[in-house]
Amino acid sequence: ARILGIESSCDETAAAVIENGNNLLASSVATQIELHKKFGGVFPEVASRQHTLSIYPIIEETLLKAHLSWDDIDAIAATRGPGLAGSLVVGFNAAKGIALARNLPLIGVNHLEGHIYSAWVKPEISDRFTPPEFPVMALLVSGGHTELNLMEGHLNYRRLGATLDDAAGEAFDKVARLLGLPYPGGPSIQKAAETGNPTAFNFPRARLEGGWDFSFSGLKTAVLRTIKHMEEDGKDIPVADMAASFQEAVVDVLLTKTMAAAREYKVKEIVVAGGVSANKALRSAFTGQGEFPVHIPPLYLCTDNAAMIASAGYYRFVHGHIDSLDMDVLPNWPLS
Ligand code: ATP
Ligand code: MG
Ligand code: FE
Repeated sequence: ARILGIESSCDETAAAVIENGNNLLASSVATQIELHKKFGGVFPEVASRQHTLSIYPIIEETLLKAHLSWDDIDAIAATRGPGLAGSLVVGFNAAKGIALARNLPLIGVNHLEGHIYSAWVKPEISDRFTPPEFPVMALLVSGGHTELNLMEGHLNYRRLGATLDDAAGEAFDKVARLLGLPYPGGPSIQKAAETGNPTAFNFPRARLEGGWDFSFSGLKTAVLRTIKHMEEDGKDIPVADMAASFQEAVVDVLLTKTMAAAREYKVKEIVVAGGVSANKALRSAFTGQGEFPVHIPPLYLCTDNAAMIASAGYYRFVHGHIDSLDMDVLPNWPLS
């Protein structure tokens, strides 16, 4: 089956077509990063207005790129939540309209589920792709979420733990701001860290023994305190060293917890997904551990895209999860 995916939960307007869950026929992403840069973060009203302008052109462009017409599409999958309400409704209403006009099934997809399913999308360059094998330990690290989910089968999520305060991506974004680095913070920190020493500062790692939860606000505060002390002493801020040391602390905590959970629940494979999984240091830490096979999507599938929504939509479709056209977006929809 061919699924058209639509994503508009935050500041990316995206469409994609996936065949049989894994085979990506076309994917387009219109990002609003430049538009929001001057606000230092996503400005909701601006985001929703921009989605309105981009949504139909991006869908048309995607079908053109895939050399497909509407008759070749079997179902529409669109992000129903979580995300910004004003952004979600643009993509979701477009999906509803198309489903009604073309008489196609509509599937509402959880955005976090989408991120996880980016590991089921066959990367364009790979010809020896095998999808993750269950049971899977899925680490979701994005701008608004950080969670560990045990998946014993498709669409089956058991949340073992989550962040008690800031998400990993949020921590990158906030620390970047403290260091005077541009939005979005993740890529800026990664770049600054390239020339820095990751052991220059020994920032705290919140272990939270006895559970699978995460916490990143203490780490952020430690960075802030270090900056303040150095400023009071009239010292220059060693941005590269601080970025590298912060990044190292985040990667250390994410890797250690995920590995411990993978062992405890005796999974076959690990999946790392979400915007922060684009991080080079995180990727090499996970690919270098050698204990479990790990699936980390290629960079263009880590941050928001519609290929992941179409893939998750496919698995919902084949499991009979078709939604009614009168459902609404769920801005706070949890994964499990
Ligand atoms: P959510 O998926 O939780 O609703 P979101 O959709 O806004 O949030 P994503 O698009 O998954 O989040 O990811 C964006 C986040 O990823 C931002 O916080 C950004 O700083 C971070 N990020 C992107 N690239 C990198 C990188 N190379 N290193 C670290 N963080 C990164
Ligand atoms: Mg985004
Ligand atoms: Fe996202």
